[in-house]
Amino acid sequence: MKAIAVTPKQANSVRLEEMDKPKTSDVAGGRGVLVEVLRVGACGTDREINNGEYGVAPEGYDFLVLGHENFGRVAEVGENVTEFAVGDFVVATVRRPGSSFYDDIGEQDFTTDDEYFERGISRLHGYMSEFYAESADFLIKIPPAIKEIAVLLEPLSIIEKGLKQASDIQERLKIWRPKTAAVLGTGSVGLLTAMALRLRGYAVHGFGKDKRDGYFNADLLEEIGVTYDSTMDTTVAASTGKYGEYDLIFECTGYSPIVFDAMQSLNQNGVLILASVTGGDRKTDQVPSDKINQQFVLGNRAMFGTVNASREHFEFGVKDLALCEAMYAGWLSKMMTHKIEGLENYAQAFDVLNNAGKYKAIKAYFEVKKI
Ligand code: BGC
Repeated sequence: MKAIAVTPKQANSVRLEEMDKPKTSDVAGGRGVLVEVLRVGACGTDREINNGEYGVAPEGYDFLVLGHENFGRVAEVGENVTEFAVGDFVVATVRRPGSSFYDDIGEQDFTTDDEYFERGISRLHGYMSEFYAESADFLIKIPPAIKEIAVLLEPLSIIEKGLKQASDIQERLKIWRPKTAAVLGTGSVGLLTAMALRLRGYAVHGFGKDKRDGYFNADLLEEIGVTYDSTMDTTVAASTGKYGEYDLIFECTGYSPIVFDAMQSLNQNGVLILASVTGGDRKTDQVPSDKINQQFVLGNRAMFGTVNASREHFEFGVKDLALCEAMYAGWLSKMMTHKIEGLENYAQAFDVLNNAGKYKAIKAYFEVKKI
């Protein structure tokens, strides 16, 4: 079967590999599920891996099959799989257990291992292939009604984890009635975050680099009642003059200096969620550290980082995708701007990823096989 692979740490090594088709028996205990891949999303992480910035090949291989945003159909099940049947739609989670205590209890998204296992990213092959085999334990069943947008579930799961942690942390307050939220970054993750917050009843304010005029992402935000401001025209802190301080801020720009701006924009008792993986070595000075520290202390403000997602967060995501379709029918499909037909057209996908601005791309994805 065909798969899209890179040689990790070697820039622009993306190519097609021919591999053996996996089998349900590749997974121990009769728990294997063979999944026919229908769609795979391509994102900034795939781009950065192909840029040679990170990514680790599985043991015994000198290449890594890419792809972690996935959607497929069950083709075969092992003898001890009762929860899936041939023909079911599924999405697989990304991280697999390592060796820390959190991994042992199924919370590998909170692993304390430095070397972690993520399909398509680190030490495990990903889903940019025609088939994959996986344990039923790591698969999420997808209702047929959301099959057209289910490839968005993996990125949404990251947001679900962030929001769940925020509400868990805010239990410190006994009563927390958040009203306003800011979403920093208006790419695919920012749009999904704004949507998830709208479903939870927040007044949501989105911030991106692009100017408002002709920016399709801002059109999408406004369609679901979210304001858009360009950080070319305002800082997030200055925007509080217009919108008030934010009870919750979700940062997903990939631009780390904005974190300090966000820290000055949080309401008392508010919570700031950091979700950008910033692999560079950017440094920032002129941070008003006394002021920020004082505000955090005197206002009981909180900030935390979040990565990856557990099965529970994927399950929350399934519900939000379905609810979003019910509330804002067709909106999610508009995010899926660039369909690439067939894995063999990988060069086209990377061209879109590398020039997202030029193509006005929000989400590029492979249609490996028609649904
Ligand atoms: C993926 C996560 C992963 C993270 C760090 C993200 O792109 O969606 O599942 O944990 O990268 O590797």
